[in-house]
Order: sequence, then C-alpha cells, then structure tokens
Amino acid sequence: MLSKKASVMQEEGLPQNKILKMLKIKLQSDLIYSSGKILSSMCTSPHNFTKQIYRIYLEKNLGDPILFPASAELEHEAIQMLGSLLSNPKASGSIVSGGTEANIIALWTARNIAKKDGGEVVVPVSAHYSFDKAADLLSLKLIKVKLNHRFQMDVKAAEEAITQRTVAIVGVAGTTGLGTVDPIPELSEIASANNIHLHVDAAFGGFVLPFLEELGYDALDFDFRLLGVGSITIDPHKMGLAPIPAGGILFRNKAMTEVISTRVPYLAGEGTSQSTLLGTRSGASAVAVWALLKHLGRAGYMAIVENCLRLTWKLVKGIRQIDGLDVVTEPTVNVVGIKSDRVDVRLVFQELRERGWAVSLFPGFIRIVIMPHTKPLHIRNLIEDMKRILEGLS
Ligand code: PLP
Repeated sequence: MLSKKASVMQEEGLPQNKILKMLKIKLQSDLIYSSGKILSSMCTSPHNFTKQIYRIYLEKNLGDPILFPASAELEHEAIQMLGSLLSNPKASGSIVSGGTEANIIALWTARNIAKKDGGEVVVPVSAHYSFDKAADLLSLKLIKVKLNHRFQMDVKAAEEAITQRTVAIVGVAGTTGLGTVDPIPELSEIASANNIHLHVDAAFGGFVLPFLEELGYDALDFDFRLLGVGSITIDPHKMGLAPIPAGGILFRNKAMTEVISTRVPYLAGEGTSQSTLLGTRSGASAVAVWALLKHLGRAGYMAIVENCLRLTWKLVKGIRQIDGLDVVTEPTVNVVGIKSDRVDVRLVFQELRERGWAVSLFPGFIRIVIMPHTKPLHIRNLIEDMKRILEGLS
C-alpha cells in the first residue's frame, strides 16, 4: 500500500537503529519467500553465501574495469562458466541486471549485425514482454508468431514470417507462462539457412534444461550446440539463486559483441569500451554469480533442479486428482499451468489470493512456479486449498 503523505527529505538525519525499526514496519506487507506462499515468482531467496559476498564486495563497479580489472576478470570467468553450461565455454558476454536487459542487448546486437532498415524480429506470441520494450527502444518491429498445439512457437509460421527486413528470430527456452521450450533445433536451421541471428531466451530455462537428461527427463536441445544459435539469455537471479540483479547475456563469440561496443573516452589511461546497456553496474553481482557457480557446481544446481521438478510433478498429480482441474500441458520445467473445464479459473485465482497464495493469472490459466523456496508442505497445503475451493465453487 503506498502512503498518501508525500515523503520529504528531513533536514537532520535519523539514527540507524531508528531507521531499521522504521523499515521493519514499513516493509511488513512485502511477502517473503520462506512463507511458502510465493508461487508466482521466477526469483527466489538468494543463496546464503551471496549475502557475505555482497557485504564484502559492494563497492565494486564493472562500469570501470580500469579501477576494477580483477572484478572484470571474474565477470569474464563467470560468463565462461555459464558458457560451458550452455555448451560454449568460449562464449562472450556480460552479467547484466536481468532478463530484460539481456534481451535488449541481444536485439541491439542483432540489429547492428544485420544493418537493415525497418528491422523486424520474429518472436513467438509467448515471448516475454521485455521484447516489446526492446523493440520500442530499438525501433524494431516484432512479428508475433502463433504457437503449435504443444504451446511452442509454430516453426512453419516462423519461417513464413521471415522477410528481407528480419534481423533476428527469437526462440524461448522456458516460457514465462508455461515453461515450454520452442523447437530451437528447427529455428536454428532456419536462422542459418537465412543468415539471421537466432536469440534464445533461456532466462528461466537456462539453469534447468541442461540437467533434464541426467535427471531422467526428456532432453531438449536449445543451446550453443546448435550452430544457428547466436546468443542466449540466462538469468542467475532466477533458477541460479543469485541475488537480484543478476542476468546473463551470452554471445557465440566476441566479434558479435563488437557491434554494440561503445568507447568510454574519459576513464584512466587509454580509455576503454563497453558492450553493455548500463554504465556503472554492480560488481558484487558478478562476483556473487562467480562465487555461486564455483560453490554449487553442476552437481549443486542439478540437485536444486531435481527437487523443484519432483515437487512440480507432485503438484501435477495433485491437480489431476481434483475434479474439475487439470494442467494446461505436461510441464517441461518447474512451471505449471492450471485450467478448468468446470469453473472460471479467474474465480479459483481470486480464492487462492484470498487464502494468501501468490499465484499468477494468465489468459485461461493459473500459473504456478515451483522455486527452490517451495517445500512439500506448501504443495500439500496448496492442493488442499484448491480442493476446497473447487468444492465451494461447484
Ligand atoms: N525472459 C523470460 C523467459 C522471463 O520469464 C523473464 C521474466 O520472468 C524475462 C525474460 C525478464 O527477466 P527480468 O524480469 O529479470 O528482467
């Protein structure tokens, strides 16, 4: 709830303990992940280890690699580690503020590589709204393509949408709504055949999909192994457990990033250049990503994904046992869409909200994201509440 009284800056400052008390009261209405009620977010409580990292390295600024060359090197190493997770340790890129910035940088790069007037970008209708922002900023036109019956980008429609003006195709690997993965291998072939940049938005799926095969689920190709894939968004502040802000944008090679390189004329020495949108940016964020990737390793992340997927399927089973509810489609990752053929899901959504559950409403379905802060008890309670709600609405 926003206060109606305008806040003015006081002449004299207040003691820190008083401010801490004020904050406790003022921030009371914010939900906390540990409550188990947050099932609408693709972010989670950051890993405890990163709190320490932030405290120590808070002053570092990646916008000035002349002052902080060692932090810049750690960012580079973090990108290489993310690259190795995505089948390309030679990837180039940056730790950025999140998926939105990563997607903007990807389209900025694609536009500058293509050098076409009136550039168009072919995206699935399921693409995140950050692409609308990117298109507006970059004077690009989004050509939104329908989905197939499995809620993936329709490949034929994508191919037909390509014109002389197309500067990029976007495929999503873990959509915001249902967690589905577009047919990236086919899109990769189309992109290569037409010499068009293919950007894969794996902001959510990037930390999940690489582990599916080893965990016994159906594997899906989506990364740099596919030769047409030019860039990938992967967000450490989602399933990577890093503190906000931490996004990742990776390019197949360094040459791609040169097309958005901007010279910074005034830094010490010879000057330097940046291939990011932001100037001053958090070094602690990149150091925290580096530290977490080192600390958890593949095995640590795989265990986290395994738990989330186990709970996801527990939820699916529970939903299927409730008369009147079903899943929209079998989940690919830890995102579940719930639909009903008996009642208006908007009513179910409202009832869940009234019971304190933070869930999301998409057109025609309720979306649940099972993040690392979600525990079996929370799922049991949610299923019980849904059962009661359906009984009440019937
Ligand atoms: N891409 C996808 C697939 C997302 O789901 C999201 C956010 O949920 C984004 C991009 C944007 O990420 P951010 O909110 O970190 O900017």
